[in-house]
Amino acid sequence: MYTELPFDELKVDTTKRRVAYFYDQDVGNYFYGTGHCMKPHRIRMTHSLIMNYELYKKMEIYRAKPASNMELVQFHTDEYIDFINRVTPDNIHLFEREKTIFNVGEDCPVFDGLAEYCKISCGGSIEGAQRLNNGSADIVINYAGGLHHAKKSEASGFCYTNDIVLAIIELLRYHPRVLYIDTDVHHGDGVEEAFYTNDRVMTCSFHKFGEFFPGTGYLTDTGIGKGKYHSVNIPLRDGIDDASYKSIFEPIICKIIEWYQPSAIVLQCGGDSLSGDRLGPFNLSMRGHANCVNFVRSFGLPMMVLGGGGYTIRNVARTWAFETGICNGEILSKELPYNGYYEYYAPTYELDVRSSNMNNANSKEFLDKILTQVISNLDHTKHAPSVQMNNVPNDLENFGDEDEDTPMALDTKGGSQFKRDKQIVKNNEFFDDENYNKGEKNIDIDLDFREKEAENENLETKTYNEDKNILLN
Ligand SMILES: [Zn+2]
Repeated sequence: MYTELPFDELKVDTTKRRVAYFYDQDVGNYFYGTGHCMKPHRIRMTHSLIMNYELYKKMEIYRAKPASNMELVQFHTDEYIDFINRVTPDNIHLFEREKTIFNVGEDCPVFDGLAEYCKISCGGSIEGAQRLNNGSADIVINYAGGLHHAKKSEASGFCYTNDIVLAIIELLRYHPRVLYIDTDVHHGDGVEEAFYTNDRVMTCSFHKFGEFFPGTGYLTDTGIGKGKYHSVNIPLRDGIDDASYKSIFEPIICKIIEWYQPSAIVLQCGGDSLSGDRLGPFNLSMRGHANCVNFVRSFGLPMMVLGGGGYTIRNVARTWAFETGICNGEILSKELPYNGYYEYYAPTYELDVRSSNMNNANSKEFLDKILTQVISNLDHTKHAPSVQMNNVPNDLENFGDEDEDTPMALDTKGGSQFKRDKQIVKNNEFFDDENYNKGEKNIDIDLDFREKEAENENLETKTYNEDKNILLN
């Protein structure tokens, strides 16, 4: 059944899609701590590339209203969100019990501004879902989102609040069936768990399996009760390359879309499945990774594109910028435009992330076994369930009702969509690279960042050299 497809040059459908891109310039300032591999700064680097490739001319750029507590507790427990709101590095000693219960500490440290960071991440995904719901965008993008490990009342794997689950809950108000696809190297456990008994969401995760975080995502985990056969897991081994990934991704996604008939798709684009990632052992080039975005986009369904993991940050920025180009029907040129972080892209100063010559432990027989099993499971979903839409919950926000724009409503709920549309960022307002190059304040921010990075220098140098070895070998 498995046939290896040739990995040809990407061809993008140039049909115009209305793309809404969410970015909050504050997100790059949050810092997980010295030595921690999760660096929100990569989102700022991505934005810098996106702006300098002039993609702002093709899409609308928004700064979302940070998610409210009321929105966060649509999935998370009140106690957990209350803890996230109250805990700081200075008072964490007062929360010994909660620290254990809510799993914060090493992987998920408490850092300054943690709650705001979570609210920015979730705000972009929730507002993105609302834009898909009200038809004002065909594709929405939020690279501050995609934090797929967070649980109902527990932080996990560098994730605290699950923007994906919240966005899907929002989509379910208008969409009978939502497909979630996860291309992060880690299993999308938080999202799978949230919808494990539900047939209105199909989750499909492609991930490294075997002695690898979080340890879940067996081929045989397919859902429970009504959700049976609505969780799809593709456990993979080290070194998967562009051709193998494409040859397993495309037939599975094709079958799901044909049989399950989702009316919206959420695609988590974790960049740790790229070759040379600091944590991930896959071997996808930028184009191999972006092929997933291009393929999913080709179905023309309302689509949400999210970030996720990704720990060799210059490669994450390259890939997410390239994928933003694809969302807009454009293949970005190889030569990087000058941007605020140009030196990060030495020595090539090119957009490409290449595969290495590492061994691909996914044999054709192994992939065939997986593909056969997955397609056989999916067969049970052939007749898409009819969904009673009469129990759709009310909107948290009333789109277009100007009575909502009292100061109180604006403060607590963001007001009407009309008011929030006024928050559209002008093309050049977010062109913060100019500021990075010329403005005093932003140079300070940058230097502050570099200082923190310098403490991290040994680790970074090691990774860089390892990457160079890959290139040299
Ligand atoms: Zn990951």
